[in-house]
Amino acid sequence: MGILKSIRYWRRWKADLSTSSAADIPVRLPVRRAVVVESAGRPKWLIFDCPCDRGHRVMLNLDRGNRPLWRIADRYPLTLYPSVDERSSVGHCHYVVRDGYVRWIERTDHR
Ligand SMILES: [Zn+2]
Repeated sequence: MGILKSIRYWRRWKADLSTSSAADIPVRLPVRRAVVVESAGRPKWLIFDCPCDRGHRVMLNLDRGNRPLWRIADRYPLTLYPSVDERSSVGHCHYVVRDGYVRWIERTDHR
C-alpha cells in the first residue's frame, strides 16, 4: 500500500474492534474506531466516540429485535445505515457515515 493510500485509509472510520462485554470498552476509544459488542456471535451494539469530538459516546442498536435499528454495510471502512441522529447534553449531532467518512447533516455547538 502506498503512503498516500495508507494515509487516506487511516483517516477513515473503522468498526474493526469487537468485544462480548461493553464493560471492556475503554473510556476513550482510539480515533475513528468503533467497537461492535457481540453476544453469541451476533452484533448487539455499535459503540464509538462521536466525531463532533465533544467527548460523548454514541451507542447504536444492531439487534434486529430492537428499535431503532442500525445496519453496518461495511466495517472496514465503516458504512452505516441510516444516519446517526443524537441529541445529548452537548447538543445535536446528525451525520451519515459512508465509506469511512462522516458527512454532517446538522451540528449544534450549543450547550
Ligand atoms: Zn456529537
